[in-house]
Amino acid sequence: MTHVHNFGAGPSVLPPEVMEQVQREMLDFAGTGMSVLEVSHRSRPFDQVVNDAEARVRDLLGVPATHSVLFVQGGATTQFAAVWYNLLASQVVRSRFPAGTPAPPADYLVTGTWSRKAAEEVTRLGGRVNVAFDAAQSPSTGRAYIGVPPTAEWQTTGPRSRDAAYVYYCDNETVNGVEWDAVPDVHPDTVLVCDISSNAMSRPIDVARFGIIFAGAQKNMGPAGVTVVIVRNDLLVRAGPDHPYVPFPTMLDYEVARAHRSLYNTPPTFAIYVCDLVFKWIQERGGVAGMAERSQAKLAALTPVLDGSTLYRCPVAARYRSRMNVVLTLTRPELEAAFLAGAQKRGMVQLKGHRSVGGIRISLYNALDLASVQALAAYMVDFEREHT
Ligand code: PMP
Repeated sequence: MTHVHNFGAGPSVLPPEVMEQVQREMLDFAGTGMSVLEVSHRSRPFDQVVNDAEARVRDLLGVPATHSVLFVQGGATTQFAAVWYNLLASQVVRSRFPAGTPAPPADYLVTGTWSRKAAEEVTRLGGRVNVAFDAAQSPSTGRAYIGVPPTAEWQTTGPRSRDAAYVYYCDNETVNGVEWDAVPDVHPDTVLVCDISSNAMSRPIDVARFGIIFAGAQKNMGPAGVTVVIVRNDLLVRAGPDHPYVPFPTMLDYEVARAHRSLYNTPPTFAIYVCDLVFKWIQERGGVAGMAERSQAKLAALTPVLDGSTLYRCPVAARYRSRMNVVLTLTRPELEAAFLAGAQKRGMVQLKGHRSVGGIRISLYNALDLASVQALAAYMVDFEREHT
């Protein structure tokens, strides 16, 4: 049993039922007489785990046959580079542009820390990045990350990014607590890329609309060490000599991962195994729609406390408030340390905001129980009453 209320932003709470199963199977995995930590990634029982995990991702997210599901390493951060390398080498992407012209720019929709970092990584590698907007430097959303500027402000490459190699965005900004309320409306000719690291499997997503979707597992799907990538297969055909591209490491190559079913080299076996159990846990609870309902119930327990408060303030515009990471400041910042200490005393942990923004961050990932949110809501009411 989990004995604290874990509101951490990642790595974060995992379902207790899953951890109990891991514990039960730890010394004897699938009747092998070995721990899952000890078996070959080329063994039949482990092959079964990868197959199973892939099938469950397909089922949970409704991944069509046009797309592959990959399990890769290096965290979501590695995908910032992999996305660019793979797409700039793609025949489908490059053939939209005349032969012999420089590699096309990619449009980045920057709504917070993680989309900004993704844009910075591509710039660092020499890619042409067009920041269509940075929400922290927008006339309408101001200097902090508190939402998505209106489309009229977006400086896209061509109408609705038609002339961009791809459009990149982060569905849920973990640090800033900003979540998109819809898929950005981009031109059908361009490729849409999305980082769903911190809201994966928390609401339905129309995978067919995306070229690439990726997510580090360590928030909503499992332990750290594995990243799930969903990629449209036709994008993996390489451009010809008319469209030169930068050669890139084998380990970033989605086509290599696809051709080897995520077993090109030694994968993070334990992390994939635990993810598979979490996927099953989600399936048994109504799948992604079930998780969306759980999320609404948790927000319903928390939101009245915030709405009725003069102490807790969420800077994010209501429409873009994350369902996963509720970011708060205290109108009396000097009370922050006391708030966190009091929470800790009651077994409510990992509530401190990201070091770059401060304040408090309440992460409400899939595995977090409603009872934890109710406990926190009650504490927040008590704390405010005591201090005002
Ligand atoms: N994207 C998002 C939305 C994240 O929250 C994080 C991690 N907090 C990352 C990317 C980076 O993930 P990783 O640490 O797995 O590289």
